[in-house]
Amino acid sequence: MVISAAHGDAPQRWHAANTVVAHAEVAGRIGPNAITRVAEALRERLGEEETADVFRAAGLATYLTSAPEAMVVEEEVARLQAQLRASLGATLAADISRDAGRRTGDYLLAHRIPKLAQFVLKWLPPATAAKILANAIGRHAWTFAGSGTFSFAPGRPFGLSIGGCPLCRDVHATQSACDYYAATFERIFTALVSRRSVVTETDCIASGGDACRFRVDW
Ligand SMILES: [Zn+2]
Repeated sequence: MVISAAHGDAPQRWHAANTVVAHAEVAGRIGPNAITRVAEALRERLGEEETADVFRAAGLATYLTSAPEAMVVEEEVARLQAQLRASLGATLAADISRDAGRRTGDYLLAHRIPKLAQFVLKWLPPATAAKILANAIGRHAWTFAGSGTFSFAPGRPFGLSIGGCPLCRDVHATQSACDYYAATFERIFTALVSRRSVVTETDCIASGGDACRFRVDW
């Protein structure tokens, strides 16, 4: 499938990821990092009381006393993202989400991406490493994209996209809102593709985009 990239960039070839979900009950679920890392970031920045206020308002207070260890329904992640913005304002919510995304990237690098694969990626030319990494991200898209559809467009800049993004489903914003994803991608690309990697969400469903699209520059 070939579609035009956002903002008048040259057309790029987008690769649909293998997001076939093996079990129906997994559809619409997201890994617990999208909850637990937000709680960590909130606690460090604002303390226990304000963290509890946000989680309570989102109807997720039980996750503070009993952190989710399995995948959570994506509506809970969307609710938490919307509540962050409602309680803290767009700027602080974005900061917290960015912090949570970096923490998620740290977790993936420490526990989920094999060390040998990391070693190889670091030694490959960035463009090659980026393509291999994006393919791997696509194979694991069911762990973070829920019912959304991940795809990517090799090149420089490198394009990442989540159609039907579950993160910003309840968010209506004038600017892009998926800082959590952007920061997670940036942490991983910085570690494995190029230290200069910067990820920017150029289109967001929350602000009227047809998909959430991320541009990776290095
Ligand atoms: Zn978005």
